[in-house]
Amino acid sequence: MSRTREKSRALRQRALQSLAGGVSSPIRATAPMPLYYTGGKGARLIDEDGNEYIDYQLAWGPNILGYGHPKMVEAMRARAEQPYSFGAQHALEIGVAERIQAMVPCAERIAFTSSGSETVQLAHRLARAFTGRPLILKFEGHYHGWMDTALHSHHATLQEMGPLDSPRVAPGSAGQSANASENIVVAPWNRPEILGRILERHAGRVAGVIMEAVLCNSGCVMPRPGYLRAAQELARKHGALLIFDEVITGFRIAPGGAQSYFGVVPDLATFGKAIGGGVPLSAVAGRKEIMEQMYSGGVVFGGTFNGNPLSLTGADACLEELARDNGAALIHANCMGEKIRSGLRELARKHRIPLQVTGFGAAFFLHFNPNEEIIDYRDTLADDFPRLNRFLYKAMEEGVLLVPDGRMYVSAAHTEHDVEETLASFARVFAAL
Ligand code: PMP
Repeated sequence: MSRTREKSRALRQRALQSLAGGVSSPIRATAPMPLYYTGGKGARLIDEDGNEYIDYQLAWGPNILGYGHPKMVEAMRARAEQPYSFGAQHALEIGVAERIQAMVPCAERIAFTSSGSETVQLAHRLARAFTGRPLILKFEGHYHGWMDTALHSHHATLQEMGPLDSPRVAPGSAGQSANASENIVVAPWNRPEILGRILERHAGRVAGVIMEAVLCNSGCVMPRPGYLRAAQELARKHGALLIFDEVITGFRIAPGGAQSYFGVVPDLATFGKAIGGGVPLSAVAGRKEIMEQMYSGGVVFGGTFNGNPLSLTGADACLEELARDNGAALIHANCMGEKIRSGLRELARKHRIPLQVTGFGAAFFLHFNPNEEIIDYRDTLADDFPRLNRFLYKAMEEGVLLVPDGRMYVSAAHTEHDVEETLASFARVFAAL
């Protein structure tokens, strides 16, 4: 293996002359360095320089079955000679919707879209229309896509957020419409008593309470025992809908997502990433009377690529595989991930490095943080980010790819052998830290 990355470096320089920012999504330019890939199989990716990596990015989550899964390949091949888009009805959209109904508890009705950001836009709109109220309550550190309406208080500083019990709404981007934040209320997550007080303060005006049911986008923080239920009861008491953004947890923590794993069924839920196993697909699912507003309640919703046959072909194969044998594929992915988590903890103890590995088997996060308890976004601000970046860089040099923010996604294709090799690489990374 060459272990140089000269071709990737040269392609990056070339890209800067044509692609805005040199990449197709700016976050991809973050640590350790933008690599250019030529292919992949199972849990492994190959870059332009011929380096092989055990991959824990899964393209930021979608490739839950790994790369080149035979069932996905067979289905996509069979589809390749048929029209790629109808912009009209076809039986597969019903078939995939029925698969989702069978897997996801809240899914009385489903609407297909192409990206996670769109699903959140639709969920907000459905909640406002259903309740006739203006406000959406979201939580600090939670990411719900890049749209003006949703991108608030994601990775804000302590100063921008202000007091814990009445946080300010921190806009997320230059150029965002200033009044978008007027329709948003922010609360710290995992603290039911503060949520209750904030809902009280905005009584009668909150249409929906939206959260990642596991705070994956700011360090894979799990809900405290009873928190999701408490949030549901508070939302109900105040007449607001509960919305789970399951773009990450969906078809990953369990076949039915966080709502089945934790046994708390929201009014609406959004899905993306793993639903398509790597093809672009997303969906909103929820209670019939809320979802049917798109037909009878005046809620406008569109999308040229909604229900795209190529995407649904990938999703059909992926969901069939995830549902098979009582969810064996995800049980395996989560089990492999748990082995890596305990291996990491052991290595950290051995090297006396403070490390919390939060999350669940198939999606977890490395916090180089001395605090034992990480319960919300504010706690993650004590992470040692320079040390994390050194870890990520050395892991890449060892042939192990993590998500550039310190997250690791484990697929159904990761084997015991991949896990052993990964932990052997991590042992060398820890020794070098
Ligand atoms: N919600 C969550 C929880 C996400 O993690 C993401 C993407 N990381 C989105 C929404 C937006 O999805 P997309 O990037 O497909 O627009």
